Amino acid sequence: RPARQRKPDWIRVKAPVSEGYHETRRLMRDLNLNTVCEEAACPNIGECWTKKHATVMILGDVCTRACAFCNVKTGMPRIVDPMEPENVAVAAGKMGLEHIVITSVDRDDLPDGGASQFVKVIQALRRETPDTTIEILTPDFRGKMRAAVEAICEAGPDVYNHNLETVPRLYPTIRPGARYYASLRLLEEVKIHDPMIFTKSGIMLGLGEQRLEVHQVMDDMRSADVDFITMGQYLQPTPKHTAVEEFVTPKTFAAYGSIARAKGFLQVASSPLTRSSYHAGDDFAQMRAA
Ligand code: SF4
Ligand code: SF4
Repeated sequence: RPARQRKPDWIRVKAPVSEGYHETRRLMRDLNLNTVCEEAACPNIGECWTKKHATVMILGDVCTRACAFCNVKTGMPRIVDPMEPENVAVAAGKMGLEHIVITSVDRDDLPDGGASQFVKVIQALRRETPDTTIEILTPDFRGKMRAAVEAICEAGPDVYNHNLETVPRLYPTIRPGARYYASLRLLEEVKIHDPMIFTKSGIMLGLGEQRLEVHQVMDDMRSADVDFITMGQYLQPTPKHTAVEEFVTPKTFAAYGSIARAKGFLQVASSPLTRSSYHAGDDFAQMRAA
């Protein structure tokens, strides 16, 4: 394991101090909502919340898994909040969101893995903020994937995102509890169920992956008909988490981005601070306008 590395200049993070940031924070607290922006200690929180972009994390703030890169708490999750779907819709309305990203912790403890809560959130948003486009970022629904994907696709999100996170060789250390090919199958299943839903996936770089392995992941995603790809630098949230193997340069990110475009992705985001929800709304609006 390398010693903790100093962050290079291109990973610059501004302190979140704006009025928009505080308003977003208050709204989330008042509505009892969690965000992945806070739970994952996302470096873009100052910028995103100032612009009132937030990624809501449903089904609580405790996850049944413990991925080596993730800052979300692990343990026995709380009961599902029946008011959550309504509260997400209220938040979207109050923030005037054109596009919302909804994600969740993993709920291996629930019979449907939490799929029905995703459905309820999508339905509440469609009812109360019909103009908001909806992007969901779901877990892999291990052991109940097909039923979960079917139910969620029926509810009709605009974008279905599921991250592969890293190259298959690193799964046992980085993403134990998940299977690379099961995640690919999930993405494929969305398209089989409803080809009109855009699919999206992403990986973190800097975990020790090799260039050709990254190319292979892109090919695997394209074989599963994935439309959008995101690539960003892995940052170690605390010293207890997996160490950064490498800070990938902006130039290398740009090169990966060009390769991804050449491989036929409709939308590509590849830079050190790219996260799967970073600029998601702007990118989606641009793509629809094109
Ligand atoms: Fe939140 Fe995504 Fe922005 Fe990070 S990039 S602050 S997770 S909306
Ligand atoms: Fe974090 Fe998702 Fe892994 Fe849970 S399943 S620990 S929320 S990355």
